[in-house]
Amino acid sequence: VGGHTIGEGFFHVMAGPCSVESEKQLCTVAESVKKSGATFLRGGVFKPRTSPYSFQGLEADGLMLLREARKLTGLPIVTEIMSDSQLDEFDDVDILQVGARNMQNFRLLKAIGQTKKPVLLKRGLSATIEEWLMSAEYIMAGGNENVILCERGIRTFETYTRNTMDVSAIPLLHEKTHLPIIGDPSHAAGISRMVEPLSLACTAAGADGLMIEVHNDPAHALCDGPQALRPDAFAKVVEKVKKVRTALDLGNAAE
Ligand code: PEP
Ligand code: MN
Repeated sequence: VGGHTIGEGFFHVMAGPCSVESEKQLCTVAESVKKSGATFLRGGVFKPRTSPYSFQGLEADGLMLLREARKLTGLPIVTEIMSDSQLDEFDDVDILQVGARNMQNFRLLKAIGQTKKPVLLKRGLSATIEEWLMSAEYIMAGGNENVILCERGIRTFETYTRNTMDVSAIPLLHEKTHLPIIGDPSHAAGISRMVEPLSLACTAAGADGLMIEVHNDPAHALCDGPQALRPDAFAKVVEKVKKVRTALDLGNAAE
């Protein structure tokens, strides 16, 4: 993707704000995460919010800002697609994110399967690993094998964290499939101070990368502020992740 290999021993950090909010916000965050070692810029512009009264994203204007930030930084972009009717609009997006709520939107999965677009398939809120893999099969059965899985925590009885990070899914999936798997500690935890320990846990468990939400001003974020890292905290997490990779002899190349 954009000159990078995902999987095959390479490790990638995808980072950016939950929602693209403005040119200044996105470009500030994009430049700082790049400096800290992120290899992909992630930002949502079509947001699947639980409440219809919450900020729904900048939509097409947000896509323009993502293109601008890609031009500025050279980072390929990852953003969430919600419907098969958006495929044309997303034509130049580097990685299509299919969010947890759409993991079983079979029409969307089949439509993406008809393209060759790399897709980051997030685990459904209460999806078993089998159901998640079947969703990946929906895409691959159409001929698109560029599927990346993303463990983003599952809903359990626990309420202290937003979700429960299923770390065991990572080694288990490496047994069951050749597909790369990215850990998303931000949505698993829902709390910014939990992002570092969960990032380290996913890394040690063999994740092929991480997706982390970063915001320049989390207190005023329009979406998912409580789980967002400030750029300086993000830089520290990336440094520690590298140390874990070195300690476990996993290699540190991001290519
Ligand atoms: C997101 O990535 O911002 C998001 C909405 O995540 P999920 O689909 O995992 O809830
Ligand atoms: Mn989010």
